[in-house]
Amino acid sequence: MKIICIGRNYANHAKEMNATLPEKPMFFLKPDTALLPKRNPFFYPNFTNDLHYECELVVRICKLGKNISTKFAHEYYKEIGLGIDFTARDLQQKCKEKGHPWEIAKAFEHSAPISEEFLKKEALDMNSLTFSLSKNGNQVQYGSIKDMIFNIDELIAYVSQFMTLKIGDLLFTGTPEGVGPVQIGDKLEGFIGEKKMLELAIK
Ligand code: MG
Repeated sequence: MKIICIGRNYANHAKEMNATLPEKPMFFLKPDTALLPKRNPFFYPNFTNDLHYECELVVRICKLGKNISTKFAHEYYKEIGLGIDFTARDLQQKCKEKGHPWEIAKAFEHSAPISEEFLKKEALDMNSLTFSLSKNGNQVQYGSIKDMIFNIDELIAYVSQFMTLKIGDLLFTGTPEGVGPVQIGDKLEGFIGEKKMLELAIK
């Protein structure tokens, strides 16, 4: 399986990164080794001094498809979960400056922890879904699906022009404003609406 991550899909996050708004979705990949196996602790990587959380809604693809039209994209996912797109911001900044690919900053081991549970989209209000992340008990990120620049169906349609989507692939749909650093000892908790979806201790 592959993990597809959308960048700059919330205007206020693009702004906090001093980035321009995309005219088309922007995406990159993480390997399956970016997932954090169940009950494993998350260890702060030794190659960065500025590890950031980016809390994101995650869609699990449930049907094989390519060149999917926006109109039919809703048939390609049934469940939505929550994930963290961990980013070595210092390495990413260097990659950006040099015009290099982002993998060392984004695709490293355990850089994509996801919730164990995924929620059935029929049970959710997919037009106004909200999600949030707290660090040590304080809310640091809050997002609404309404604020996505490109909605989930548009993202699926766009990405599937370039690569076949397979059952089990994960789509990280972008992070809202409020990204920031974590330190060893921090505790992150992610929520969809009021429901706690994930908890992570930084070791
Ligand atoms: Mg992200």
